[in-house]
Parts: sequence; structure tokens; C-alpha cells
Amino acid sequence: MYERRNVETDKLEALFDEMVQKRQQIALNAGFGNYRDYMFKAMGRYDYTKEDCFQFHNAIEKAVVPLMRELMVRRKSEMGLEQLKPWDTSVDPLGREPLKPFDGGADLLSKSLNCLNSVDSWFSGCLEYMKNNNLLDLESRKGKAPGGYNYPLAESNVPFIFMNASGNLRDVETLVHEAGHAIHSFLMAPLELNSFKNTPSEVAELASMSMELISMDGWNAYFDNEAELTRAKLEQIEGVISTLPWIANVDAFQHWVYENPNHSRKERKAKWLELSARFGTGMVDYTGYEDALAYSWHKQLHIFEIPFYYIEYGFAQLGAIGMWKLYTENRTQGLESYKKALKLGYTQSIPEVYAAAGLEFNFSEKYVTDLFDFLQRTKMNFK
Ligand SMILES: [Zn+2]
Repeated sequence: MYERRNVETDKLEALFDEMVQKRQQIALNAGFGNYRDYMFKAMGRYDYTKEDCFQFHNAIEKAVVPLMRELMVRRKSEMGLEQLKPWDTSVDPLGREPLKPFDGGADLLSKSLNCLNSVDSWFSGCLEYMKNNNLLDLESRKGKAPGGYNYPLAESNVPFIFMNASGNLRDVETLVHEAGHAIHSFLMAPLELNSFKNTPSEVAELASMSMELISMDGWNAYFDNEAELTRAKLEQIEGVISTLPWIANVDAFQHWVYENPNHSRKERKAKWLELSARFGTGMVDYTGYEDALAYSWHKQLHIFEIPFYYIEYGFAQLGAIGMWKLYTENRTQGLESYKKALKLGYTQSIPEVYAAAGLEFNFSEKYVTDLFDFLQRTKMNFK
């Protein structure tokens, strides 16, 4: 994949130079000093500032990067390697076959109904309703558009789920993620105006990412042996740990790019490498492939197409861990808090919605460290 992208490096660099200049001009025309400040207003980010983002970057660096490093140390030893190369980081370290949690769309659906039912019968009721009303298109087939999403239908007030299941664990994550969005749609149905149901991603992804974690309680529906179940849950948690540093890296980079719109290509490359060191584990040897690392941001379409839209997933992921913690401490109360907060839709500010769930919209090192302490403790109990 790197080699194919590498062919276009100069084109992508030139394109991005041009985009930065045009974006800077848009910001100036609109009376802002830089494009970041303009975008915060344009995206309706009224509930947090650039300083909150910086705090998030710092907390991830301090609380999560060391955990990702531990994962890499373990991977290296499991693979029996002297040195990890980039391609060693996305294979099963024990060389096992991929997990096969289901076979075909009908199997995925029936297992997911069982899974959600064991968490909360109202959750599975939502999915059952969608099944009975032909609101699910789960299976991949020739000619079908790629991707996966939940989309609410404004008039009938019910959502539908579209995805491309092929049989792997990622599809289970996708379905429970989209089911979280769907359940959010059902919870918001009584709200009076469509605008109230149009939640920002910091709230929408809280619904879906929480469901990914909470639903693990019922993942035995997909696996008939304990070893595979544990492996699946660990893969899910390791995904959480590895994604957050990348989100912080991408976000911090964009702040720098638009705070310094007249930077050179060389400076940009140096900045990305500096951030990659800050949010990376230092465990992967890129010798001979230095540019693969230096231009790895080229693979992140958000930086080109939807600037600054990305950190929402980081915030929501932290909220989801908090939600899962509440559920783990007290199942009934946790589920109640989840529903209570999501019912609000966007009738209240993001911190107020989080507070209704018993969560803080907080990115201090202390808060994030506490969340990850819980995650690490819970992970130990999987084994
Ligand atoms: Zn989502």
C-alpha cells in the first residue's frame, strides 16, 4: 500500500500546499487569523477550544502511548523478532488464522440479536424491529457500494443499517457500532425537531463506541470457545489503545499546519516525524522505508477532505470507556445512564449530554489515566 501511495507523493504534497494556501485565504476573508480558528466556528465547536485539544494530545501521550509500547514489546517477543518492521505490526503475532465469528448476513444478524439481548432486551428489540421492517442490508455482494453506516429516516423516524459483512471480527464491531447509532435514533425519536436529533459526532459516536465496548458482554454469542472469545475482546481493546495516539498525531499535525500556513514541505515533513516520535512507540524500524513514515499522513483522507474532523472520535472513545466503566460497575444503572443521555439528542451542550450519562467531558491527564487504568484492569480479567 505504501509503494502505491509513494508513486503519488509529489502530487499529494503539491495538492496539499495549494489547499493550505486556499484555506488560509478563506480564513482571512472571513476575518479569522488562521484556518483552524475559522474551522472551529464553521464546524460548530462551541463546547471546547484548541486548548482542550492540546490537553487531549498531552493526555494521550502520557497515558496511552506507554500502553501501546507495551503491546509492541509483547508483539516483538511473541513473533520472536530482533526488530519489528512496519509490516510486522498488522499481522496476528502468533500466526493464527483470522477469527470467524459468523458465516453470512443471516448468521451475523441472529448472533447479534442474541448478543444484544443478553446485554439489554430493549436493545435487541430495536434490531429485531429493523429486521422485521427490512431496514438492514448487512451482507457484501457484487456491485454493492463499500462502507458501513446507520442512517435515520426523518419521516418514518426509524433508522436503517447498511454494511458489507464478509465474516470477520471487524464486521461484528461494525454491526454493534452501527446498532449503537440505530439505538440512539430510536431513543431520540420522540424529540420534536429533526435538528434536535442531528447530534454532533462527539455525542453520536459516544452512542456507537460505547455499544462496541458494552456489547462485549454478549460476544459469547459469536464464539463457542473461551480462547476465541478472549482473543476477540483483546483485539477490540488493542484497537482502542492503538487508535487514540494516531488520532492525537493527526490532530496535532493539523493544528501546526494551519498555525504555520507558510511552512515549507521540508518543515512539514520534519513536524510530522517529530509528532510521529511523540505519539509512536519507537519500536518499529523504518530503515529503508523512511518516507513511508514521513508521508504516512497522506493515507488519512480527513487531512485533505475534511480538515479538523477527526478528534471527535478520540473524545467519544474516551467517553465510551467511561460509559463501559459505569456499566461494569453497575449494569442496570450504567444502561439507564446511557439511555438517559442519548435521549437528549442535541437539545443540550456536549458536556451536558456527557454529564447526563455520569461522564465528564474532560481531557486531563488524570481523568484519561483513570480511564485507562480501568481498561487495563478489565483486560487482565479477560484471561
Ligand atoms: Zn459511527
